[in-house]
Amino acid sequence: MQIKKLRKKLLAVDPGITAREADGCLVLEGETDEWSKVVKAGRLAVDKKRYLGVVNDIRLKGYVEKERRPAVTDDSLEGEQVDVLIIGAGISGAAAARECSRYRLKTLVIEKGGDVAVGQSSRNGGVVHTGISFGKKSLKLKYCLRGNEMYTRLSEELDVPLERPGQIMFIRHRFEVPITRVVKWTGDRKGIPGIRYLNREKLAKIDPAVPAWAIGGLHMASGGITCPYKMTIALAENAAENGVRFCFETMALGMKVEDGRILSVQTNRGTVFPKVVINAAGTYADRIARMAEDQTFTIHPRKGSYLVVDKKKGHLSTSSMGKAPYTISPYQDAAVKGSLKKAVGMLLENIHSHSKGIAVIHTIDNNILLGPEAIETPDRESTETDRQTADTLMQIQHEVVPEISRSDIITYFSGVRSASYEEDFVVRQGIRTRNIFEMAAIQSPGVTAAPAIAVDIVRWTVDYLREQGLPVEENEDFRPKHRFPPVVREMPDEERDALIRRDPDYGEIVCRCEEVSRGEIRDALRSSLPVYTLDAVKRRVRPGMGRCQGGFCTPEVLRLIAEASGMKPEEIAKSSTGSEILKGPIRPREGEG
Ligand SMILES: Cc1cc2nc3c(=O)[nH]c(=O)nc-3n(C[C@H](O)[C@H](O)[C@H](O)COP(=O)(O)OP(=O)(O)OC[C@H]3O[C@@H](n4cnc5c(N)ncnc54)[C@H](O)[C@@H]3O)c2cc1C
Repeated sequence: MQIKKLRKKLLAVDPGITAREADGCLVLEGETDEWSKVVKAGRLAVDKKRYLGVVNDIRLKGYVEKERRPAVTDDSLEGEQVDVLIIGAGISGAAAARECSRYRLKTLVIEKGGDVAVGQSSRNGGVVHTGISFGKKSLKLKYCLRGNEMYTRLSEELDVPLERPGQIMFIRHRFEVPITRVVKWTGDRKGIPGIRYLNREKLAKIDPAVPAWAIGGLHMASGGITCPYKMTIALAENAAENGVRFCFETMALGMKVEDGRILSVQTNRGTVFPKVVINAAGTYADRIARMAEDQTFTIHPRKGSYLVVDKKKGHLSTSSMGKAPYTISPYQDAAVKGSLKKAVGMLLENIHSHSKGIAVIHTIDNNILLGPEAIETPDRESTETDRQTADTLMQIQHEVVPEISRSDIITYFSGVRSASYEEDFVVRQGIRTRNIFEMAAIQSPGVTAAPAIAVDIVRWTVDYLREQGLPVEENEDFRPKHRFPPVVREMPDEERDALIRRDPDYGEIVCRCEEVSRGEIRDALRSSLPVYTLDAVKRRVRPGMGRCQGGFCTPEVLRLIAEASGMKPEEIAKSSTGSEILKGPIRPREGEG
């Protein structure tokens, strides 16, 4: 769009907003009173043919950003020289770290949180997507397809659970069948394997939870389910086993850039001197790109919440399913009755909702997730949940799995997607600053795509370093296999008995809801990348993930962390320094002094 025309359109959004061209980007400036106007202006400005991207600097009146920062400051990294500095330890940073460890590179990962997978990478549906909803030319599709294919080998190499029950998109009306055929045809052309239209009887053989209103739907066999934080942990632990160093509670605060090159990165633990920076900072990736003087995109955070259903109802669905985006659902039916215009309007609204459809997801741990919705928010770390969202999700899921009621919900969680206005990943070498590599705007399907993106990013990084004269050699000692310690509840009886006889700690159950033994918690605290927080143990072996949400096991888990780390229980944090749980010492157990 011509800039004059855009300015006219922006005037209609808010007269306080202006646009200018700068360094190949479209820059939006000014001030407005509603976040929806900031987002609307950003969307209007997208013109992939003319510009590298939208840099949206519009201020929201009265809004003060509350970015979480580490509570610690020291000089433990002062003067550190590394080949590769990775910023962010979500699944993107962890996958990049593992790829780096295939080479003889000195790689450091810094993460402002207290563990890996503290951002979106632990707050998502864990679906290994098929790619059906992404544009043919998009990076999302390219890396989703590659990543989906990689998952089978990755899960085997890294000991991370993966199931492929497929994904189902239900339709309701006969007039939606031809649309389904078109979707299948485009899916085939995109290279998505195993798409079939099935009637409700055939679908019911795959997943018994076919809703009463569905006449059939598309089954996509390549759809899978994994544990996203276990995958992130496994990638990071394997990288650590192969020589990568991780520093938590360490935040990139600024950069010194000269002649198109990052010379140093300031952190709360001193200044690091990297040859290359990989930007994997999730919802803050545009801020990191700006520090590097290479910003060509803007993240507009988009929140999604899930309801977690008790395992007792886990049998109600065995796959990931939801209504197709081009479907009118029963609760919308009344609104469109008798009006084709309304029906078409609603279909278009559903298709453009930026959500892949509210879904019912059978998780790898036998829970069911209901969600997520897609809400634009200025807060990049908005993880709180609210009653209204929970009510909406309950109402919408009711049409898919009516057997689930409110009392089956054990908890809620939210995550924030790092969407760019172009609604695509940014995967490339820096344009103005050459020694930064972007793994940015990695919103959904980032869990699926990150391992594939990391392969390209690290290949380009190695090529760049070699061009700069660094003789980067392959790491012949690279060990691709990673193993998690045994999961006692999943063992056959005989094997479990033998293990408990060898080590009685595996017979002492600490978390009754999830059947987690003392031995398993102890193992998690002795891994190649041990993290001494309550959430870290929870993510690794699940104490606190069950019905009682840690009500019974927390004191014992704190004791075990204290034993392994040498810390006092009252020094142990929930997630990172500053979130300590206890106000004073724990009462000794019976029989202890
Ligand atoms: C609700 C929801 C549902 C989703 N469902 C799916 C799904 O089913 N399947 C799928 O494939 N994808 C899904 N996704 C997308 C997926 O979760 C993300 O694409 C992926 O996790 C992004 O990983 P990341 O490593 O790029 O970002 P993150 O996991 O957010 O990691 C970025 C890290 O950078 C750190 N950081 C930020 N700034 C700094 C700094 N200055 N210094 C140091 N560290 C910093 C952050 O603390 C964070 O840990 C979903 C996302 C959401 C929100």
